[in-house]
Amino acid sequence: MSNVAVEVNGRSYSWPKKPVVGVCVDGSQPGYIEDAIKAGVAPFFERMLVDGTSKIADCVIPSFTNPNNISIVTGRPPVVHGICGNFFYDQTTDSEVMMNDPDLLRADTIFKAFEGHGAKVCVITAKDKLRRLLGKGLSFGEGLSIGFSAEKANEVTLSEHGIENVLDLVGMPLPDVYSAELSEFIFAAGVKIMERDRPDIMYLSTTDYIQHKHAPGTPVANDFYQMMDGYLSQLDAMGCTIVVTADHGMNAKHDENGQPDVIYLQTLLDDWLGEGNTRVILPITDPYVVHHGALGSYATVYLGDNIDQNALIEKLAGYDGILMALDRKAGCEKFELPEDRVGDIIIISEQHKALGTSSDRHDLSGLKEPLRSHGGVTEQQVPLLMNCKSDISADRKLRNFDIYDIALNHSI
Ligand SMILES: [Zn+2]
Repeated sequence: MSNVAVEVNGRSYSWPKKPVVGVCVDGSQPGYIEDAIKAGVAPFFERMLVDGTSKIADCVIPSFTNPNNISIVTGRPPVVHGICGNFFYDQTTDSEVMMNDPDLLRADTIFKAFEGHGAKVCVITAKDKLRRLLGKGLSFGEGLSIGFSAEKANEVTLSEHGIENVLDLVGMPLPDVYSAELSEFIFAAGVKIMERDRPDIMYLSTTDYIQHKHAPGTPVANDFYQMMDGYLSQLDAMGCTIVVTADHGMNAKHDENGQPDVIYLQTLLDDWLGEGNTRVILPITDPYVVHHGALGSYATVYLGDNIDQNALIEKLAGYDGILMALDRKAGCEKFELPEDRVGDIIIISEQHKALGTSSDRHDLSGLKEPLRSHGGVTEQQVPLLMNCKSDISADRKLRNFDIYDIALNHSI
């Protein structure tokens, strides 16, 4: 046990007086928690709202899962840590690269910094795609830190994940990757590990499978928040400081017939400028397309040599359904993004519009409900809740990646 303040990425964090549990509820648009409380199924969330801290924070743009999870665990925006999508176009190799390789992460995590001062850390995430990024630099083994995904909870080993036999410990079968149970497993495991090991710092990060399909206040959404409420109240009873936020919000992106309302950008640009002159990148793209068919509200475009960029930006910005089109420099400045991993133009669509490449490149067969998705500035507001009061100044503009600062430096 140490009493030092821990410095990382230019921010300072006090040593935890009791275990701190950071929770990222994937896709938790404001309204989900409030509606579950109204339905009478979330008494612990209600207590956080009434007796603790309840704020609205901004997530990072693009309002996608990976950039926000990595911002939360580093305490800084993507310009510092480099992760600005699930996916980026590497111009040096002319290839589209998944951004789940820890080598692409340019900053240390708060967890690594605390572990370096003797803290025990436990990180549990839904999908394995995030696990290696979140756990970068941690030491796993007997009595050391713990990091695993619910998706591959059956494959954990002491040497690689710091834990073994998680399914037995939790008492749940391996959850399906497309299920509410994938997220439930995280909380159930968090409670068991808190009981057994009492780590100093814990991070629980869910999947937005439910939020992509079910709006706030619907029975399935309320069930999901009821489930979380029960586990969080157990962590509360164990004396943990709990701070909850979301990686991004979520909005309906469909027309009145329930069909996805999409601007197919590559088709549009090919039509305007001819094929082969532009490359549209959708950084929401990942191997788990059932939620959203790779349709979000953020795109970035690389331009060929002979394209008049300013004229194109003007034309795009005036196009019906597009909220903003910015050049790389302006966009990266506004959204704190790394210029070397962003295209020449950043495009953001309106609240209920999605951006695609061309219709034949989106597999929408898995979309059983009308499309709900994210990525733009209309999904930027997220909740920030804590189970105790705080001394955050009233005029402070909060970010979701402030949760460990709030819990460690501002809880009272
Ligand atoms: Zn997400």
